[in-house]
Amino acid sequence: FQVPPPKNEPILSYAPGTAERSELKKQLKLFRSQEMDIHMFIGGEEVRTGNKVSIHPPHDLNHCLGYYHQGDEVQVHQAIDAALRARTDWANLSWEHRASIFLKAADLIAGPYRQKINAATMLGQSKNVFQAEIDSACELADFLRFNVYYMTQIYGDQPSSSPTTWNRVEYRPLEGFVFALTPFNFTSIAGNLPSAPAMMGNVVVWKPSKTAIYSAHVIMEIFREAGVPDGVINMVFASGPVVAEEVFSHPEFAGFHFTGSTEVFQSIWKTIGNNIHRYKSYPRIVGETGGKDFIIAHKSCDVKAVATAITRGAFEYQGQKCSAASRAYMPASRWNEIRDEVLRQLGEVKMGPPEDFRNFVNAVIDEASFDKLEAVIKEAAGHPEAEIIAGGKCDKSTGYFIEPTIILTTNPHYRTMQEELFGPILTVYVYDDQKYDETLDILDKTSMYGLTGAVFAQDRYIIEKTTKALVNAAGNFYINDKPTGAVVGQQPFGGARGSGTNDKAGSLLNLIRWVSPRTIKENF
Ligand code: GLU
Repeated sequence: FQVPPPKNEPILSYAPGTAERSELKKQLKLFRSQEMDIHMFIGGEEVRTGNKVSIHPPHDLNHCLGYYHQGDEVQVHQAIDAALRARTDWANLSWEHRASIFLKAADLIAGPYRQKINAATMLGQSKNVFQAEIDSACELADFLRFNVYYMTQIYGDQPSSSPTTWNRVEYRPLEGFVFALTPFNFTSIAGNLPSAPAMMGNVVVWKPSKTAIYSAHVIMEIFREAGVPDGVINMVFASGPVVAEEVFSHPEFAGFHFTGSTEVFQSIWKTIGNNIHRYKSYPRIVGETGGKDFIIAHKSCDVKAVATAITRGAFEYQGQKCSAASRAYMPASRWNEIRDEVLRQLGEVKMGPPEDFRNFVNAVIDEASFDKLEAVIKEAAGHPEAEIIAGGKCDKSTGYFIEPTIILTTNPHYRTMQEELFGPILTVYVYDDQKYDETLDILDKTSMYGLTGAVFAQDRYIIEKTTKALVNAAGNFYINDKPTGAVVGQQPFGGARGSGTNDKAGSLLNLIRWVSPRTIKENF
């Protein structure tokens, strides 16, 4: 009973005069004119605690978008109970009905909710219109549709039998609840992390990032309208330690779906390890964490293509992608041309609020991030091994604005060649053309991560050599393309080393983690 593969949701242009542009403008205005009262969602109930926290666009700190109700251990506990109460009915509902709900959610996102979810992402997370469209409309719809397709493949995969014996595999959901902890940087990931396990028959407690609650609330609204039953996905807002205490000490904690920092993931993994004796089953742990993603250009590269990959790969969405290019290895013989083209392109880039669609660069997510990035830039400005050749200005007077910044370093081990920064900062190391092989080796050993990377070369021997030499340096490896922008169904996404468990988002490999198969043998 396999269904044909779905098609990726087409990206709309938002060019002047288009219907989508005027609808989006209307929605942005509407959001700006009201203060939203955002509640948790537990067991089908709207839950308000009265402990209100205000929400401001990162690019316009004087404006209030509304409030969310902060919860504590009481609500987390209620959410776990609600999930467990919903478990049996949901697990017994046949997969076609679960599929229908999530296919309908995809249609709502691609259709009537498209501008609402885009506008929420633009305002709440400071994302420009094109980045929002790719993320919250197209990728989220794609995750849901493709996951349904992979789900049918999983259920359809059955062992062989004989005339006297019937073997079958039942793909049961996990015995307990799944906890989804989602990041601010992709609305699509925030929607995918609770929905993928739910689709496979699991019940979920979901804690969205506190800096992306504005769009998370819209996702929840869509799930409800699509027909996700009470208790199947429960959304709670509470501090990390409070949630961790409740969730990871619960005997029915059965799975963890995470995207976020390496540090948080490692600390949670330790907590889970310390509590392992409490659980009914070994929990499934699926996490996508940090990256120190690279671009390496060979002297045979196409200069314009490298420069465009740098501008887009490093600075789209202010570099706040796990996949963003943040270190570059450039051949000395071509560097001047590449640098001039990058500086030319950056000269055309505008920075400001996303409501002005001409602004390519918007604000970084919050003050903590701004302060950290500013400190890194200041340190580089005064460091003997570093030179700032583009950007460098930071201003938080109205919003958290940081210019796209390029640090040139003479040391391939300079701090910003190794550490993830999660912001609009790229560090470039220029290597001697004769030392390509040594540079590959340095690149491979420099960082603890293994998420994305790109090689630019026209020489086929170099492409092959690089692909082999960097076999473990990137779970998503790009040849003559920027290392960002994986498309669901086309480039399954994820990496190993310090970057995660590499259970590729938006693929069968991810969905399979949310089932616990039972093999049944019957003799006739
Ligand atoms: N899938 C995204 C990309 O390919 C990155 C996701 C992330 O930042 O976690 O650019």
